[in-house]
Amino acid sequence: MTLKPILIHPDPRLKKACDPVSTFDKELAALTDDMLETMYDAPGIGLAAPQIGVMNRLIVMDCVKEEGGTPEPMALVNPKVVWESEEQNVYEEGCLSIPGQYGEVERPKMVRVTWQDVTGAEKEQEFDALWATCVQHEIDHLDGKLFIDYLKPMRRQMITRKMQKYKRELARE
Ligand SMILES: [Zn+2]
Repeated sequence: MTLKPILIHPDPRLKKACDPVSTFDKELAALTDDMLETMYDAPGIGLAAPQIGVMNRLIVMDCVKEEGGTPEPMALVNPKVVWESEEQNVYEEGCLSIPGQYGEVERPKMVRVTWQDVTGAEKEQEFDALWATCVQHEIDHLDGKLFIDYLKPMRRQMITRKMQKYKRELARE
């Protein structure tokens, strides 16, 4: 398994819609393992393929945050929200591509999602609370959408300027 560098906003690859996955081979399974390892190492609870520059509809997540909790790694290929609850939930979201920045985002509290696993088998499940927020945040990445796109323009611009400065500093190191 290999840790992959995570793209930092602003990056054109984080603003693009991704292509569906059509080949379910060993490479896809290996990519999924790399993404999970990269996510756990960061550490984060979700990672979408475009965040490592792979423009395909693939996300990984594990929202078990309790110390000593049993990990529940999930890999969702071609995920799609097919139902969302009217009830909304507000979470303070962050993103591995926007390190150190957080903002409150309102999303449906529950969603039903269909996807394929790494072998191509069809799956369907309901997600609630943090899992629901996470899966929606990650699917947004596949459509080139970031959590800061839900914030007020002023706040979004401020975060983007901070990230531009952060990337200049990284480049100098
Ligand atoms: Zn993110």
